[in-house]
Amino acid sequence: MKAELLTIGDELLIGQTTNTNAAWLGRRLSRLGVRVRRTVTMSDTRDAIQRELDRTYQDARLVVCTGGLGPTHDDRTRTVVGEYFDAPLHTDDTLLDRVRQYYNRRDREMPDAAPRLAQVPEGFEPLDNPVGAAVGLWYEAADGRLIVLLPGIPDEMKSIFDASVEPRLGALPGVGEVHHRTLVTAGIPETALQERLGDLSGVLGDDVHLAYLPSTSGVRLRLSADAAEADATARLNEVASVIRERAGDCIIGTGDVTPEDALGHLLRDRDATIAAAESATGGLIGHRLTGVSGSSDYFLGSIVAYADRVKQAVLGVGEAAFREHGAVSEAVAVQMAEGVQEALGTTIGVSTTGIAGPTGGTPEKPVGTVWVGVADADGAHATHHQFVEDRTLNKELFASAALERARRGLL
Ligand code: ATP
Ligand code: MG
Repeated sequence: MKAELLTIGDELLIGQTTNTNAAWLGRRLSRLGVRVRRTVTMSDTRDAIQRELDRTYQDARLVVCTGGLGPTHDDRTRTVVGEYFDAPLHTDDTLLDRVRQYYNRRDREMPDAAPRLAQVPEGFEPLDNPVGAAVGLWYEAADGRLIVLLPGIPDEMKSIFDASVEPRLGALPGVGEVHHRTLVTAGIPETALQERLGDLSGVLGDDVHLAYLPSTSGVRLRLSADAAEADATARLNEVASVIRERAGDCIIGTGDVTPEDALGHLLRDRDATIAAAESATGGLIGHRLTGVSGSSDYFLGSIVAYADRVKQAVLGVGEAAFREHGAVSEAVAVQMAEGVQEALGTTIGVSTTGIAGPTGGTPEKPVGTVWVGVADADGAHATHHQFVEDRTLNKELFASAALERARRGLL
């Protein structure tokens, strides 16, 4: 099934609101095996909405719109869509009751404009909104084309999708089969990964597509199989196994797995514990590890040792290491990792010391330089990495490198 998304709202065009609805719907629809071919963001005007409906409705079996379903005068979606399908609006009494109750329960007087929320174009079915007053609307045309209208507010849009849209779509023929597979890698840049995978054209053939999706936590490899292929699943499995073989331990998992999830699994598997000594990451390693539910089983704590004095006093880094090599060095990273491993009594100690920027770089140690230390039962070592110029990105990249080095250490 091919779909298009129409996200309506001036606030999206001027960048006041980030279009998270499009990303969320894209992800959820793809998971159902629906192919989203285009997303259009447009103004709240009648002309714009009608023009896009006209264009989009010709080539997509499913059109999902978000935004403009509220009660105010700038919420035009239901009126314009109703006009487009020659479906006059009528007031649905059950919905009107529901809107009344919505305001009653909140001890608020029903605004004059609220009855608009109970207006439904002829032939459209309301979709219950578990968290708000504006319902969604579902329309199935005689030729089987579908149009789904959802509110713009992300929580409301998601609730209606979960409760009503997904089950309805999933029941349609050809929907619900998964035609994507994502393999997640860490610790290897996009270009190096491509070299490592080598020529895949023979394996991919004409029916499986491979996309490289880099982020600060690693590169995801997304495989998509042509929806028309009856044996899409078998083909995806076949390609995924070739990639796994070639990428080896760069693969940390599938789907939405993160480096902190992967490390957490491994720590739990090995009955191991971890602690971090964080300079350049300023607590980010701890933040990411504790973002995983159940991380108290293996994460003991982070020591944010930003100043050299703290690295010395709390982690026991020797004064000579600073004098001879500087704070951003292999020697300091190693001693920080050993220091936190000993201080917190963990299986593994991991550390970061680097230059996040934009200031503080030198020709020998430019912005983006980081040393990541790992201490475990076999001793301690550190690796050098060179990242980018942006401070926020660097902190994420440093933390990802540390999580990945710790995972490799365990392997
Ligand atoms: P309301 O009842 O609030 O008027 P609505 O269905 O009319 O809901 P809009 O008025 O279009 O929706 O948007 C309401 C709010 O939802 C916007 O201010 C915006 O913050 C958010 N929003 C709308 N569209 C999107 C989107 N595509 N992605 C993320 N947020 C969005
Ligand atoms: Mg609105």
